[in-house]
Amino acid sequence: PFCFANDRIIASDKATLHPMDIGLIRGYGIFDFFRTAHHTPLFLSDYLDRFIRSAEKTHLKLDLNKEELAQIVHDLISRNDLEFGGVRMVLTGGVSENHFSPTAGQLFIFCEALDFPAPSKYESGIKLLAVEHIRAIADIKTTNYAFPVWHSAIWKKEGADDVLYHLNGQVSESSRSNIFVIKDGEIATPNKHILHGITRKRVLELIPQTEIKAISLEEVLRADELFITSTTKKVLPVTQIDNNKIGSGKPGPITQKLMQDFAIMEKENLQK
Ligand code: PLP
Repeated sequence: PFCFANDRIIASDKATLHPMDIGLIRGYGIFDFFRTAHHTPLFLSDYLDRFIRSAEKTHLKLDLNKEELAQIVHDLISRNDLEFGGVRMVLTGGVSENHFSPTAGQLFIFCEALDFPAPSKYESGIKLLAVEHIRAIADIKTTNYAFPVWHSAIWKKEGADDVLYHLNGQVSESSRSNIFVIKDGEIATPNKHILHGITRKRVLELIPQTEIKAISLEEVLRADELFITSTTKKVLPVTQIDNNKIGSGKPGPITQKLMQDFAIMEKENLQK
């Protein structure tokens, strides 16, 4: 496989990172991740905008503009013949003398195999473990996922599929996805302390009447339906939080309809 490293496409096993890069020693860097289908990157413009925004917000200099990044992505997809897969873009904080101040970072773009949830999870819905936590600088897609990685051992032991973050009674999101709550036919999603997911954005286009507001953990537990959204999970029903069954305990009708509508939206996007 090939990857893009700083200014050129090279063999992936030739890509290197300086051991003193603060991406490594401080976890300071940004990334983004999107899918390709039939060799076409899905919703690429949105992902590139978010990547560029993350770089600006973290004071990291990105030497390439959106058009140049898009060209590299297309070149890389054809070099790797990536029909269906993931593309990850990473910009590190760079090597700095004091190991603290960002400098010119390294840019990597590489292709990956996709790891989707098992089809049975879409039929049964998943279980989330509620945990008191809030992501720092939540709206920036930083490479620092130390807490979620560390904490995954705990939710796995509890037989959960992921987590639901909440703090002071308010929910925010899951470790790598956004959450939506349905009660009496009304749909809502948290407004604060979240990463603005591209899948969330698409769902908001499909259901524009969605309320974007503060949502309490209690409201989540009393919901008729719940689902999470992300690039690899798409629209995934949640049917249990801790030991509480959500609604009927099965994926609800609004969630099921949305799963279908999202698949149609994806197909339409590929044909554009
Ligand atoms: N929230 C967090 C913390 C994430 O890491 C992600 C995705 O990686 C999301 C939400 C969902 O975003 P997207 O739909 O763009 O994948």
